[in-house]
Formats: sequence, C-alpha cells, structure tokens
Amino acid sequence: MRRVIVPAATALVLLVPAAPAPAKPPQKVPVAEGYGGAVATVDLDASRAAVSVLRKGGNAMDAAVAAGAVLGVTEPYSSGLAGGGFMVYYDAGKRKVFTIDGRETAPRAMTPTTLEGIPFEEGVTSGLSAGVPGTVANWDLALRRFGTISLAKALRPAIDVASKGFVVDQTFHDQTAANADRFKDFTSTAELYLPNGAPPPVGSTFRNPDLAATYRELARRGPRWLYGGRLGKEIVATVKRPPVTPGSTRNVRPGLMELSDLRAYRALLREPTKVSYRGMDVYGMAPPSSGGSTVGEALNILEALPEVGLHEYLEASRLAFADRGAYVGDIPGVPLKQLLSDGFAKERACQVGDAAMAHPAAPGDPDGSYEPCPRPTGSAAPVAKEGPETTHMVVADRWGNVVAYNLTIESTGGNGIVVPGRGVLLNNELTDFTFGPAPDDPNLPGPGKRPRSSMAPTLVFDHGRPVLAAGSPGGSTIITTVLQILVNRYEFGMSLPDALAAPRATQRNTEQTQAEQAFLDEHRAELEAKGHAFALNPEIGAATALEFLGRGRVQAVAEPSRRGGGSAMVVDPARR
Ligand code: GLU
Repeated sequence: MRRVIVPAATALVLLVPAAPAPAKPPQKVPVAEGYGGAVATVDLDASRAAVSVLRKGGNAMDAAVAAGAVLGVTEPYSSGLAGGGFMVYYDAGKRKVFTIDGRETAPRAMTPTTLEGIPFEEGVTSGLSAGVPGTVANWDLALRRFGTISLAKALRPAIDVASKGFVVDQTFHDQTAANADRFKDFTSTAELYLPNGAPPPVGSTFRNPDLAATYRELARRGPRWLYGGRLGKEIVATVKRPPVTPGSTRNVRPGLMELSDLRAYRALLREPTKVSYRGMDVYGMAPPSSGGSTVGEALNILEALPEVGLHEYLEASRLAFADRGAYVGDIPGVPLKQLLSDGFAKERACQVGDAAMAHPAAPGDPDGSYEPCPRPTGSAAPVAKEGPETTHMVVADRWGNVVAYNLTIESTGGNGIVVPGRGVLLNNELTDFTFGPAPDDPNLPGPGKRPRSSMAPTLVFDHGRPVLAAGSPGGSTIITTVLQILVNRYEFGMSLPDALAAPRATQRNTEQTQAEQAFLDEHRAELEAKGHAFALNPEIGAATALEFLGRGRVQAVAEPSRRGGGSAMVVDPARR
C-alpha cells in the first residue's frame, strides 16, 4: 500500500524538463495465482520480502515474520515491533492448527479504574495507553516453534527497506497528515515523520535509519534486549516521560510500565476456536481476541437459519456482538464452548425475523441448556470505541503450511510517540479496554491483563485440507469484514477476489449499520424496508486472503482499491 500510480503528465514534462523525475512507483497487483507459495499483504515491499524468503527455501512462518518486520517500516502507523498481534498457523506436517497470542499486556500497576473518566482521545495519545509490546516475543516464538530461520535472518529484508527507504504513496502521506497535529507535539515523532515540519511528499523516498539500527541491534542481541535490556529501558523511559515538544499544551498522561512488566511478558500458544460451517471447519483466534468467537458464533447462527441474505448477515452479526460484549475478554471462564455451540446458535437464530430486531439486541444465555425460543433478558454492553487501523497478511508455502497474521499498534499512528533514537512508534493498545465505569464488563483493565481484541485471522478447512485463509484490519469491523468475506464466498457464491472487493456493511449491535457508499447505493432501499438504519462509513477494512484451488494452486487476493490497494504475489505463476 505504499505505492501510487502517478498519472504521466506527458505534455507538461516536455515543457518543463528541469523538474526532477519523481521516483517511479513500483507496481502491485491485488490478485495472483500460482504455485510454490503465495502471499497477500497491503504493501509491495512486505509481499516481496515474503516471496524472497519462500524462494530461498524458507517456510510460511519465516516469510510471515520477515514480511511483518517490513510492515513495521512501510506501514509504521499500523504495525511495528512495539505493538502486538495474533497468528493462526496451519502446520501441514502435523496437520494441526496452532495460534500465537502476541497481544500487548497491561502493566502490573493497572487496575479496573485506571482509565475511568479519561476522555478517549486523551487516552489514545498518552503513555498510559502503551501496552507491553508483544510483537518481538511473537516473532521469536513463531520462529523457534514453527520456523526454519533465525530472527536475525528474518529481520534482514526489513533492515534493507528501512535503510534504503521506500517510496511514499498517497496513503502514507495522508495518514501522516491526519496525525500531524499530535506528531508535532512529540520531538522524536516530529523529527522522524514531519521532516521540514510537514508530512513527506508523495513520490519521495522515506528512510528510517534509526529503525534499521534498532532491527540490527535486535538481530544481534535477541528479544531480551527488549524484554529487560536497554531497548526495554528506553521504552519504559518514553512511556513514563513522553518527549513532549516544548510549548505544547497537550495533556499527555504518563504510563505505568516498568522494566519488570517487560521481563514478565510472554507470547502464548493458545488453542484456536473452531466451528463447523457448511461441512467445513473454521478456525480462529480465541480470547483475548473476540475474533474467533464472534465470527464463529455468527456463522453458526447463519447456519441455523433457513436462508441467508444480507438481512440475515446483519442480524447474525448483531447478535454475536451482543454476546461478545457480555462475555468475551481476557478473563477466566469465558463460556467459549457454549458461545460456539450449535444449541446456543439455534437459540440465538430464533431472534432473527423478517424485520431488523430492536436496538440494542440483548445478549443470550450461553448456559448449556437451550430452549426453542427464549426471550433474552440481559442488557447489552455499549459498543466501545476502537481505532480503525491495523494490518493483516496471509502466507502459504510449498509444503502447505499457512499463516494468517494480524499485527497492530492499535490507532493509526499508535499513541503518536516515537521512542527517541529508535525509529519506532509505541502502541496505544490499552485503549481497547473498556474505560468504565462498567462493573460487570469482562474487558475492564487489570494488572497484566490483555485488552480484548477484534483481530480475526481465520483459516477454513474442508475435509482436513485448508481451503481459505482471510483477515483484515479495522478495529471491531474486522469481525464483520471477515464474516462478510465468508458469507460472500460461501453463501453468495462469489469468487474470492469479488468477495473482498464487494461493498461492505458492518453491524456491531449499534443502532445504525455502517456501510460503504456502494453498499448503500445497491442495498439501502431493500434493507431499510426491513427496518435497518444506515450511516456512511467511507471505507471498511483492508483485507487479505488466500484460496487453495487444489493440486498446489493458490490464489492470493488483496484489496483492489481500499487503502490504496494491496499486493498479492506467488512464487511461481506456472507449475514447474
Ligand atoms: N486494536 C484493534 C484490535 O485489537 C486492532 C487495531 C484496529 O484494527 O483498530 O481489535
């Protein structure tokens, strides 16, 4: 997503020969098909890094980590080594799905009331919202457990891109401009991302030598350099005393992170969520993400309905979000098995009628005893604010291993604070907690707790073989984007590229369903007649996906236009 096609102003160029030619934007394509491995990311450099690792004999996990590190350079506002993420991995040798939870944690000093009363936007740009970073531990665990190359080797392509630079495209420029107001309030951030006091121009080459050096040193010293060493100390110092620009009037709350929090951090292997849907198995990310449980519950509800159209898609999603709000968080005792049971789905499906249900939908009762059609009695949790950005990639290799990987620093631009001299933005993931007061909310902050996520890297299997991998950024709209892709593909019979390109709508137990303009143009009248209300959301998600077409052929798919379009690539377009 770093590239734009600059229209060639031929006549002008002839008349004004003195102007230096802008860097030629490299090409990226949203769909690629072939053999020997495949990747889709939002960014050409990241996809190239993955393919290069695969060509050299690396596996899907090696390639995913290499591409993830490149995204930290070229997509620094959506991901980075001071962020977190979740991986869902199919190990073809073991014929088993694993997941890695690299979610940020709250410092031990954080309590359920720490965020209470703080205005959301003030929370976003603060030291207080920075969670203990999980990404490096995630990469380390992923490579040690499933990879074939070292972290040092996986970081090489990223070091190269950070030192040589990448061509600034419209999206990067616009994201910088949208952040300029807060970036200017931190000396380190202004210095890196507002050179000469303004966002880097489209077509210019952007280098991040500090980040190149940070990656190099991480390669040399290993993850402990962050989890207890010098880099960790610098992160803690930045969180506690953000480098606020002299004269800035911004109220920047300091954070609670200590070096001991970094020392205590672990990325975790977790059991995936699993539902059966139309005879296939759908695997996703378990808590602390709500991705797997909410996508899974909605699919189960759809399966329990006699027919599925857009009305049913919106209603199933509304119900699943009501249950997400009531039951899912990083707490013991999330009733995951019941939330994903067919009995519960049938009970919930019974709420879906011909007309849109009253707002808000109440949560159901996943207690294991299900009746034909009970009246829900609970009260709905308010939908918390969540930032709209992060990034997702999919990678497969020639051995049949598959990775779906969501990585993030939460808001576009994270908390806005670059660690001085290190070229990396801190995350604001802790704003994914419910700020409160909300006494029974499963997602209140707590010491060492992981904020509830919506990230939903998803793998679909048919008769034990992977058939599809998908995921997206977009805060809580991630869940509906993944769900809509699956509904488009499997209920409406669209091709995977069409399933991604199709206009989106997102119903998250809100009064109005947000939808893209093209969705409104096509479906508004018909759905309003059923009682749905809409609000415009100009762009929902930026998905990536793979479909396994059989006999080793894979189709890699990225967005044709959202966020400037993504980059799909395969190792060999033709079978060797
Ligand atoms: N913080 C979000 C989550 O974990 C991801 C970032 C985003 O897409 O907004 O659900």
